[in-house]
Amino acid sequence: MEKLGENVWQITDHIYRIEVPLIGNPLRAINSYLIKGEGTELLIDTGFRRKSCREPLLKGLELLGSRREIRDVFCTHVHSDHSGLAREMAGENRRIYMHGLDLKLQREILNDVNKGKMRHRFLKEGFPRDLLFWIQDNNPARKGALDKVDSRFTAVSDGDVFQIGGLKLQVVYTPGHSPGCCMLWEKEQGIMFTGDTVLFDITPNITAFADVEDALSNYLDSLHAIRNYPVKLALPGHRETGDYQARIDALLRHHDKRLQEAKRIIAEQEGLCAYEITGQMTWKIRSRSWEDFPDTQRWYAVGECLSHLDHLLKMGEIERYEKDGIRRYRVR
Ligand SMILES: [Zn+2]
Repeated sequence: MEKLGENVWQITDHIYRIEVPLIGNPLRAINSYLIKGEGTELLIDTGFRRKSCREPLLKGLELLGSRREIRDVFCTHVHSDHSGLAREMAGENRRIYMHGLDLKLQREILNDVNKGKMRHRFLKEGFPRDLLFWIQDNNPARKGALDKVDSRFTAVSDGDVFQIGGLKLQVVYTPGHSPGCCMLWEKEQGIMFTGDTVLFDITPNITAFADVEDALSNYLDSLHAIRNYPVKLALPGHRETGDYQARIDALLRHHDKRLQEAKRIIAEQEGLCAYEITGQMTWKIRSRSWEDFPDTQRWYAVGECLSHLDHLLKMGEIERYEKDGIRRYRVR
């Protein structure tokens, strides 16, 4: 990998990496990848729709002699750090690719249907009402999100192929981190653009989604399905690369441990709600107590806990019942 500029690297003949800072976000930065072909370009992931992402991305694209009029954008998934600038970066007559399920979710985020569904779920799981409303109205990720889905958006599905710069990129559908999460596989060179499905220095957040029964199950199935690709170079959505298979095994073990931890908490104390169970789980964020946990992070933590509870429930390991309008959990 050759460094070409402050935040730009050349990876192979046709593949470049632009690091886009995510200021104030624990992820720190996102990797945007540019693939240059003959008269056509594909930009994979973009950063938030805000100045502090837009400027470094445009600077990197300029350094690479990239031209908007011939540029398509591929979003590995709906999250705004990956899709926020897609409309600005894609040429006016070009396309913006995203999996159909994430495109549907993006529309439901824009018309507030998703907000209502998540609000309903989180209230039922014991999340404090005032805090929930505040977080939903002030989430910084929402502010950097796409403002609209225009006619350039094109749904992709598993197996679709993009031919560009002599590369043949195949869409690998890996639901879990989002309902329509995708990776791109270049078989000839053994290169996998992993999006947020496989990250090396961070554990991808697996949360509960409104219309997904068991997101963690989807994610674990995805990990098993992609584990045996002969990947020589993994290009992740955030931070650095690493040993692909070893990392997948570590992620599988991580979730197994988390499932056991959640189950142990439920076994020790019957009748807790998800919000209370989350408070008893161990988190990387250091705070004196669950009550001191940073507000927005509390939303992500409960979402992650819920994905594990949904999975235990589906596996028949725990039961859910309702008392005074709040869902509570006990082992079976
Ligand atoms: Zn993501």
